[in-house]
Amino acid sequence: MTVPVRRFDAVIVGGGGAGLRAALQLSEAGLNTAVLSKVFPTRSHTVAAQGGISASLGNVQEDRWDWHMYDTVKGSDWLGDQDAIEFMCRKAPEAVIELEHFGMPFDRLENGKIYQRPFGGHMADFGKTPVQRACAVADRTGHAMLHTLYQRNVRANTQFFVEWMALDLIRNEDGDVIGVTALEMETGDVFILHAKAVLFATGGAGRIFAASTNAFINTGDGLGMVARAGLPLEDMEFWQFHPTGVAGAGVLITEGVRGEGGILLNCNGERFMERYAPTAKDLASRDVVSRAMAVEIFEGRGCGKNKDHVLLKLDHLGPDKINDKLPGIREIAIKFAGVDPIKDPIPVVPTCHYMMGGIPTNYKGEVIAPKGDDVEAKVEGFYAAGECACASVHGANRLGTNSLLDLVVFGKSAGDSMIEFIKQNPELKPLPANAADFSMARLARLENQVDGESVDDVRREIQQVVQRHAGVFRTQDVLAEGVTQILEVAKKVGRTTIKDKSKVWNTARIEALELDNLIEVAKATLVSAEARKESRGAHARDDYPDRHDDEWMKHTLFYSEANRLTYKPVHNQPLSVDYIKPQKRVY
Ligand SMILES: Cc1cc2nc3c(=O)[nH]c(=O)nc-3n(C[C@H](O)[C@H](O)[C@H](O)COP(=O)(O)OP(=O)(O)OC[C@H]3O[C@@H](n4cnc5c(N)ncnc54)[C@H](O)[C@@H]3O)c2cc1C
Repeated sequence: MTVPVRRFDAVIVGGGGAGLRAALQLSEAGLNTAVLSKVFPTRSHTVAAQGGISASLGNVQEDRWDWHMYDTVKGSDWLGDQDAIEFMCRKAPEAVIELEHFGMPFDRLENGKIYQRPFGGHMADFGKTPVQRACAVADRTGHAMLHTLYQRNVRANTQFFVEWMALDLIRNEDGDVIGVTALEMETGDVFILHAKAVLFATGGAGRIFAASTNAFINTGDGLGMVARAGLPLEDMEFWQFHPTGVAGAGVLITEGVRGEGGILLNCNGERFMERYAPTAKDLASRDVVSRAMAVEIFEGRGCGKNKDHVLLKLDHLGPDKINDKLPGIREIAIKFAGVDPIKDPIPVVPTCHYMMGGIPTNYKGEVIAPKGDDVEAKVEGFYAAGECACASVHGANRLGTNSLLDLVVFGKSAGDSMIEFIKQNPELKPLPANAADFSMARLARLENQVDGESVDDVRREIQQVVQRHAGVFRTQDVLAEGVTQILEVAKKVGRTTIKDKSKVWNTARIEALELDNLIEVAKATLVSAEARKESRGAHARDDYPDRHDDEWMKHTLFYSEANRLTYKPVHNQPLSVDYIKPQKRVY
């Protein structure tokens, strides 16, 4: 069967903040650019971002990009690459002003400047006092940003392939990336999208956990495609648990609530964060607050009849501030927790929120993978940006509001790298005859499988294993058992079956294909976590409570084949400033 081919200068998989910022760069440079998205672009998970985007604008009090850099390095627990972190923090003010000029409707201060709120781990004067660095549009910052970027892309004539699912990467004999295979959901037809350069901006994969703030579409497709293509995934042991997911529902309550003055209480009505982080208190970084909450609950000071959550109190902010700055949060609390925060506190628990690891890239958005002696060899024609990528600016723990920043800074720099690459490589490289065979075989397997496993059951098993074995606190036994169990579940993924074999809008087929991606992310997470025998950032081990820089200040690389691990050094050379030396991380 011949698979139809469409040709472009650039193909971007993902229409969230990162994909749209990159697409804008390419379309405005006159390149023929396709953006694929499983959902209408403005429904990507970026739309759910609440709290803000960081930049040292200094609109409220003095701020500097090198203070922002220091906070990000410290937040990363010295696993972040300092060249990439410097690049991002330096570019932040320019990136936010650019969004403002694109028409993003930021909240304003009295003097007309962009409103900025405090956020966890963002401090002035190299970690001394909290600073207001998060630029916000009430509690709907991602919504405003995504719509702004979408409209700019419409103006720039970006071509959208809406409700198209990329299935696999296409590489030629030299290993260069030259396109993707993709399924048009409406018809069930498969196409080859042939391109001079391909960017992955497929977002997060929080759906490997049973309790997650992430959208249902966050199944780590980009990571699955990369793993199946024989390329590595970086630092997959590091998952951020957000301190304030609504207990039982998972829906996110932004850290901006604490930025505006909300506080966490245990069952004794005690503001317990004063004991764990005397300076930053409720605004310590997320890993620190999540662990403190887990300890309170574990030691019996949780709230409710099962003592399984803590309370987020904000009624003291007053109705005016809540309605003005946190209207979406009030709505979420009423709908999902059954409480009106103007009167009562919100029940919250640490919930899986963000993937620090991902597809290895440098700060130019170029995908890298070891080749011979070169641990930083580029994969020609291949780029990644946003949550699916690991640049690595977030290291072992991301600071709130640094992700929206990462999307626009690295979306743009990846776009620039692609423009340069396409200039130097103006011809499409020939497609191998078997370009679509792998994807077609996956689909055929699914069509022909008899007596197979239910997709829903296997997905639930993955989520339960990851939730139980890769949570806030980890030990050798728990992790090793998790690895054994996930490898068993992986066998079932190869035997899934679907009852509905129709072509038009077959969501059962799509969910089965997503499962192939979830399992790669879940395996990478458990195998990488089991191997790392230290505590760093979000990876907290009871049996190895300290950080071990001598042995473990290095990035993990996971290969799906044989579930193999290798490591590569952290970049300890910033672009222009001095190296920020490791210290103990206290808030
Ligand atoms: C509830 C919530 C609140 C948050 N709040 C903040 C905040 O205030 N500040 C902050 O900095 N960060 C925040 N974050 C984190 C941040 O929003 C995300 O990391 C970021 O938006 C991810 O953007 P992205 O462009 O990488 O991916 P996404 O916005 O997730 O977009 C991914 C895109 O890829 C597409 N896609 C995926 N797989 C395929 C496939 N196989 N084929 C075709 N298309 C595909 C999807 O359709 C989608 O368009 C929040 C996250 C959540 C979940």
